[in-house]
Amino acid sequence: MAVKTERKYIFVVGGVISGVGKGITTSSVAKILQSRGISVTAIKADPYLNVDAGTMNPTEHGEVFVLDDGNETDQDMGNYERFLDTTLSRLNYMTSGCVYQEVIKKERNLEYKGKCVQIVPYVPYEIIRRIERAAEKSDAKVTIIEVGGTAGEYENVLFLEAIRLMKTKKPEDIAVVMVTYLPVPSKVGEMKTKPTQHAVRALNSTGIQPDIIIARSEKPLDKKRKEKIATFCNINIKNVISAPDVESIYDVPLNFEKDKLSDTLLGFLKIEKKYDTANLKEWKIFVTKTKSVKKEINIAVVGKYFNTGDFVLSDSYLSIIEAVKYSAYSQNRKPVIHWLSASEFSDNKKNLQKLKKFDGIIVPGGFGERAIEGKLNVIRFVREHKIPCLGICYGMQLMVVEFARNMAMLTDANTTEVDKKTPYAVVDIMLEQEKKLENKNYGGSMRLGAHKAKLKNETIARKIYGREEISERHRHRYEVNSEYIEVLEKKGLIFSGVSPNGMFMEIMELSKKEHPFFFGTQFHPEFLARPLNPHPVFTEFVKIAKSYKKE
Ligand code: GLN
Repeated sequence: MAVKTERKYIFVVGGVISGVGKGITTSSVAKILQSRGISVTAIKADPYLNVDAGTMNPTEHGEVFVLDDGNETDQDMGNYERFLDTTLSRLNYMTSGCVYQEVIKKERNLEYKGKCVQIVPYVPYEIIRRIERAAEKSDAKVTIIEVGGTAGEYENVLFLEAIRLMKTKKPEDIAVVMVTYLPVPSKVGEMKTKPTQHAVRALNSTGIQPDIIIARSEKPLDKKRKEKIATFCNINIKNVISAPDVESIYDVPLNFEKDKLSDTLLGFLKIEKKYDTANLKEWKIFVTKTKSVKKEINIAVVGKYFNTGDFVLSDSYLSIIEAVKYSAYSQNRKPVIHWLSASEFSDNKKNLQKLKKFDGIIVPGGFGERAIEGKLNVIRFVREHKIPCLGICYGMQLMVVEFARNMAMLTDANTTEVDKKTPYAVVDIMLEQEKKLENKNYGGSMRLGAHKAKLKNETIARKIYGREEISERHRHRYEVNSEYIEVLEKKGLIFSGVSPNGMFMEIMELSKKEHPFFFGTQFHPEFLARPLNPHPVFTEFVKIAKSYKKE
């Protein structure tokens, strides 16, 4: 008889303030355990009521990260997949919204057998059911669950209640890691532990005692600070981990290992390790590269989701930034990313000259009509000046629009997302999407997730992937209109990747004779880029950009 795996759980909760790296801590904890030969998986539990992240504007919430199975999730899911080099599913992501939805559905189906369905314990029970199901399905020895928000706020109490219930039942199988922040007030000049003490008390008031504290701060913690936290927060001093700011997020697992965090966790949860030391060799090589490569490559991203300042900007396009990094370092280049607001190019054509300074341009995905003429001007300029250009999703659709207008002479060609009355709808809404929009069915209803495509022989796409069939992640409602394929192809546009049923144009390119790299994908290659496994499309883009001679 097969022996049932004894599953262990690590909860990562926040204290003091948000935004100090709980997601990276979760990814890194998972990484170091994985590097000891332990099977792991990670779950994100977000407190908001949205059923998934798909209906949120990127300036609200950052990038929407799409999984293979089409679930539209939080960007932390991207960090987990990248750190662990694994594929996660919708079982690894939950929000208060989807938890409530399930509880209410079960109530309507009489699954609670006439009971009064109280928020506690039924909502926490549903949370626990989801956690255990994800652990079971991925057959992970250790499941790491990141709870969004910080202790002491109203929003995440039901998730904390789920932890309390699990820990009461199986205390030896559960570790609670609290990520806190230690400020150094500028006038005082001393690192303060008091907010951490309060945060631990707030967590205690929900019936949970943290087992490990990861103390984020600008500088490393000294012995005195560690002692204070140990004394006032009831923690073994060995379990107070100093996590100072680092140059790159990829340093974090290595830093944790310097503090022997995997030993601490494995000891605490009584897990037998497979390897005596962490096997992070390849990871280290990558991290060393991120610091030693000096020769720059300058890539501009022409976007529009950064009107709330730099902070939001990088969040909206997180996976693209990471994908560029991995490919750039693999080609021995230090990536420098420049943010260009598409609206700058709408009516000021002089601004276009700026584009010549860059080695390559990325036109990323997006929605709606704002700043579209600016993007089209950029695309025309980079096509005519032969600057390497990668268009992703909306970026590719706009490349098709630009080509239709200026090369196929289809005046005022457009996507119907921008102009419903365009005489040449070269990009149009997909048939099944039209109904969905009429019925205001917006949530989780796009063409989502992994779909296959076939690549044509003797194209750049085929050369990049080195095979005929690929699978990539999607998120769109519009598509290249098949009525125009012939006209566009006659003028030299090549649809080199097509869905197996021949319906969807998945990749477009210009031949090398026409342009060094004018390449667009209907899918989002950035969602499959991994630090130790850079994405071939980004790598080819970087290779070409590397050799692009600026005027
Ligand atoms: N707005 C476009 C569509 O819905 C592109 C979407 C995207 O870039 N993710 O098809």
